[in-house]
Amino acid sequence: MSKKIRTRFAPSPTGPLHMGGVRTALYCYLFAKKHDGDFILRVEDTDQTRFVPGAEEYIIETLKWCGIEPNEGVGFGGDFGPYRQSERKEMYAEYAQMLLEKGDAYYAFDTPEELDEWRENMKNQGKPSPKYDPITRQYLKNSLHLSEDEVKRRLAAGDPWVIRYKMPRNEEVKFEDDIRGIVSFQTNQLDDKVLLKSDGMPTYHLANVVDDHLMKITHVIRGEEWLPSTPLHVLLYKSFGWDMPQFAHLPLILKPDGKGKLSKRDGDRLGFPVFPLNWADPNTGEESVGYKERGFLPEAFINMLAFLGWNPGTEQEIFSLNELVEAFSIERVGKSGARFDFEKTKWFNQQYIKSKSDAELVELTHELFSDTGYQATNEKLEAICSLTKERATFLHEIPDLAYYFFEDIREFDEKNLKKKWKNEHSEAFRSLIADFNNLEPFQANKIEETVKAFMETHSLGFGQVLPILRISMTGTMQGPPIFSVMEVLGKSTCLERLEKGLNLAKELQD
Ligand code: GLU
Repeated sequence: MSKKIRTRFAPSPTGPLHMGGVRTALYCYLFAKKHDGDFILRVEDTDQTRFVPGAEEYIIETLKWCGIEPNEGVGFGGDFGPYRQSERKEMYAEYAQMLLEKGDAYYAFDTPEELDEWRENMKNQGKPSPKYDPITRQYLKNSLHLSEDEVKRRLAAGDPWVIRYKMPRNEEVKFEDDIRGIVSFQTNQLDDKVLLKSDGMPTYHLANVVDDHLMKITHVIRGEEWLPSTPLHVLLYKSFGWDMPQFAHLPLILKPDGKGKLSKRDGDRLGFPVFPLNWADPNTGEESVGYKERGFLPEAFINMLAFLGWNPGTEQEIFSLNELVEAFSIERVGKSGARFDFEKTKWFNQQYIKSKSDAELVELTHELFSDTGYQATNEKLEAICSLTKERATFLHEIPDLAYYFFEDIREFDEKNLKKKWKNEHSEAFRSLIADFNNLEPFQANKIEETVKAFMETHSLGFGQVLPILRISMTGTMQGPPIFSVMEVLGKSTCLERLEKGLNLAKELQD
């Protein structure tokens, strides 16, 4: 039996999840589901200095809203927990110890102040970005160069220490990335990264590798920014003697003009959200609006994100989550950055609003209607949603597009009313009011028949009648099919409006 596919999304709770993070989670989810595997949420909170309250809850809420719930993880249970790294703290020291024993790691006793001073000196000597590496480590305070007694004395005395990885010199680290192919790094470009600190907290690298191993992760799918960390991870797997997962580093999401990585600032500047949900920064109080609150449906958000870096190789653009699972493959994820397009994002939303059933739309907009003060039966709301959904990009536009079902017309297109009206038709239109009054039931098809019969009797064309009707009923020439609108408005409102429209038309002529 082949190994069960397991992917993980491993965010650090340092703030709200950027849409790039959601895309990573989505691809991890799609890949796992496609292969009947498991998708895991692991919270990487070892850097307590960057911890932001509420961020973890935000991540969980986001995954739920998007419909990409993990099989295991913080808030979701599972057999490989705890899934929050701060709760796994005790486990990591043992692994750091293993590396020390193998000779692949060492103790370093340099204090942050000493390192600052050293860096300063190096800069003054013309070395702008000094690294703790195979060369420089010879001059620094670590167990590779201090005597054994001195090391023991320092450890016993409780001197602060860190455990660093002993980066080999002049080696090539190669691995296969499922998106980028063979990737190779020279160890001389790398430094001796800290793995564990004296308070027992691991750094990202150690915790990430140990947990991926212990949680039996088979595929590490993450953003491109983690590519430079991967050679160290590969070396760590080797040092531990563990099988490596497959790696796939996702392309960047680029600004709309394609120049550089998409940032929150671009969203602020160009007026689009970069976060999935609303977020209020607990430190600064700054509020950012999310896709959800901006009126996006999760299906549209997910569909748009799926296409930021992946394509199905066909013309199809609308994919449900299940269809994405079916169609997704890492081979079709590109290497180059994917440009974000807010217009396209809105287009996706429009498509999803259009494709919703009327009953679903009523569910989704119920609150929006009542917040606006618009009351109606579900049946009537369904009819209204059905008539307006074609024109809505956002859900919250629906009550506004439908205002004339609830309120008097705010503004009449007087220019067109004047242009299309002829005083000599006045008499005829009065008879139409009478025809409507006699009409029973007042239904779209009956209204249409009545109008057609009226046009025939009075030898009038569509262009002479429909604009008058439209403007009288809704104020404008555009809008949903007028006979259906009239049915929903109801007979008495239509009679009143037509009366008013005709009066206005006449006034405008005078
Ligand atoms: N904690 C890292 C992050 O915040 C995880 C990177 C990875 O997936 O390895 O994105």
